[in-house]
Amino acid sequence: MSLFDLKGRVALVTGGNGGIGLGMAQGLAAAGADIVIAGRNGAKSEAAAKELASHGVRTASVEVNVADETSAKAMVEKAVAAMGRLDILVNNAGINIRKRPEEYKMSEWRDVLSINLDGAFYCSYAAYPAMKASGGGKIINIGSMMSIFGAAFATPYSASKGGIVQMTKSLATAWATDNIQVNAVLPGWIDTELTQKAREQVDGLHNNVLQRTPTGRWGEPDDFAGVAVFLASKASDFVTGTAIPVDGGFSIQG
Ligand code: NDP
Repeated sequence: MSLFDLKGRVALVTGGNGGIGLGMAQGLAAAGADIVIAGRNGAKSEAAAKELASHGVRTASVEVNVADETSAKAMVEKAVAAMGRLDILVNNAGINIRKRPEEYKMSEWRDVLSINLDGAFYCSYAAYPAMKASGGGKIINIGSMMSIFGAAFATPYSASKGGIVQMTKSLATAWATDNIQVNAVLPGWIDTELTQKAREQVDGLHNNVLQRTPTGRWGEPDDFAGVAVFLASKASDFVTGTAIPVDGGFSIQG
C-alpha cells in the first residue's frame, strides 16, 4: 500500500463546495478517499460532490452552519451515517469581513470568530469520538498568512486564524495518543471567491501580491491537493501540531 493511498478512508471537508476546500477534496478523492462535502449552500455542495464522484469514489453532501454547535454535530452524524466511518476532517469553512478595527459592528466581529474559530472547534469536537472509535484520524485546519501577520483590514480574521494555529497545537497534544494527527495549512494569496472580493476592497492588492510572492503568481485551489493528501495519509503519521505555509514563499520573503 502506498504511503499516500487513501482508499477506504472517509474525508469530511467543510466549505468543500468551492475554492481551497474543493481543491483539497479533489486531491483526497484522486488518492481514493470517499468524500463528504459540507457547506451552507446545499445545491453548491451537491454539485461539488457530483463532480468529485468522477474519481470513482463515493461522495455525499451535507448542509451545515459550522458556527452552530448543533449543526456541526449533526453534520458529523450524517457523514458517518452515509459513509460508515470518519477518518479525515478538513476544517476549511471560513469568511472575512474587511474593515478598519474601529468600523466593525460587534456582530461582525462575532460572525468571523464564530465561523472561522468556533466552527473549527465544534467540528473537531464532534468528529473526535468517531475518529477515536476507528483507531485514529487526521484533522487539517485552514489558517492563513494572517495566522502570522496582521493587517489593518483584518482584525477579527487575523484573531481567528492566529487562534487556529494555537488550537491546532493543543488538539494535537491532547489527541496524539489516540493516533489523531492535527495540523494546520496556511494558504498564501489564493484566487477564490473570497479573494475576488478582497481585490475589489483593498486597493492595489492584486499587484502587491504578485510583487511580494517569490513565485510571482497567485495560488490556485489545485495547489492544495498535495498538502491535503500528505496530511491525510500515512505519510504524515509522525507529523502533528504543525502549521505548513502553502504560499509560494510569501511568508519567507524578507
Ligand atoms: P471561499 O469563499 O471560496 O470558500 C469558503 C467556503 O466556506 C465556502 O465553501 C462556504 O460555503 C464555506 N462556509 C462559509 N461560511 C460557512 C459556514 N458558516 N458554515 C459552513 N460553511 C461555510 O473561500 P476560500 O476557498 O478562499 O477559503 C477557504 C478557507 O481558506 C477559509 O478558511 C479562508 O479563510 C482560508 N484562506 C483563504 C485564502 C485565500 O487567499 N483565498 C488565504 C488564506 C486562508 P457555503 O457558502 O456553501 O457555506
